[in-house]
Amino acid sequence: MCGDWKLLVNEDDAYDWKQETIIRILRNPLYKGYFWVQKCDKKHFKQRGRGYIPMQERTVIPSSHEAIVDEHTWDTVQEILDRHTKVKPCSSGYDNKFRGILKCADCGSSLMIHTDGRNPDRPLLERTYYQCRIYRVKGTRACSQHRISAADLERIVLADIQYHAGKVIKNREKFMRRVLGQMDTAAEYSQKNLHKKMDELEKKRKESDSRFIRLYEDYARQLVSEQQFRMLSAHFEQEKNGYTEEIEKLKAMADNLEDSACKAEQLANEMAGCAEIKELTTAIVNRLIEKIEVSEPQTIDGEKVQNIRIFYRFVGEIN
Ligand SMILES: [Zn+2]
Repeated sequence: MCGDWKLLVNEDDAYDWKQETIIRILRNPLYKGYFWVQKCDKKHFKQRGRGYIPMQERTVIPSSHEAIVDEHTWDTVQEILDRHTKVKPCSSGYDNKFRGILKCADCGSSLMIHTDGRNPDRPLLERTYYQCRIYRVKGTRACSQHRISAADLERIVLADIQYHAGKVIKNREKFMRRVLGQMDTAAEYSQKNLHKKMDELEKKRKESDSRFIRLYEDYARQLVSEQQFRMLSAHFEQEKNGYTEEIEKLKAMADNLEDSACKAEQLANEMAGCAEIKELTTAIVNRLIEKIEVSEPQTIDGEKVQNIRIFYRFVGEIN
């Protein structure tokens, strides 16, 4: 603790929390069962103030107390806070469900929301659209419009979620295999295969070691010359290093695969929870989606085509 605190507010105002208070609570790892090792650092006794360490630079370690919020929810909240988007509602009254996640496929900047006020009789969803921020600010010399209506975007995203959620419900294993296949090149191996291969290599490494010991014994009994000994021991050394390197590589692959499987599992759980949805909400978008890339519409064979890439949390794009 950095000092004693006294609550000098009257009881009626005690829960009249400001935004900073809520953010401080949301950022505190205490709620997910961790704590900050050190919050402030006085480098010198003459230093004025408390010397707070920025949150990102603090060391966090697991604690033995029970978590109030599960780790996954806590991480989701951090991601949303990190987007640094204003939480002010749109003046038009439209509930912007894609705050901070829409990106221009060409310049990478975010897409800005805009509502056309000219025809107030038209439904709000149809009058609301998104455009590349760089285009809005700098014009055509910097980027193009990348315009998409909120109605189209909501329809596409909802359909994509419903499609994948349906796949999870129908055949979860198949969904997992598909997602893993896209995430990792190591996914072509199963965890079992990797371990089998590692065991084989370990056996070869041991054999190489015992052959070296036999060689050394022969050398000690002067059955081989020093020159032969040097040459062969260099060969065994090289062989052993090769096996060790290969084993390390497979170990990293196995860890990676386990991590990817865990992530795919998390997405499958979230997806399964969205199987029945009929309408898109901000909470669903935040739970499932990390980023949506919007391309400039093109006309192909007289038809307007616009490429939308949806990157899901944990796993990325699902094709
Ligand atoms: Zn752009």
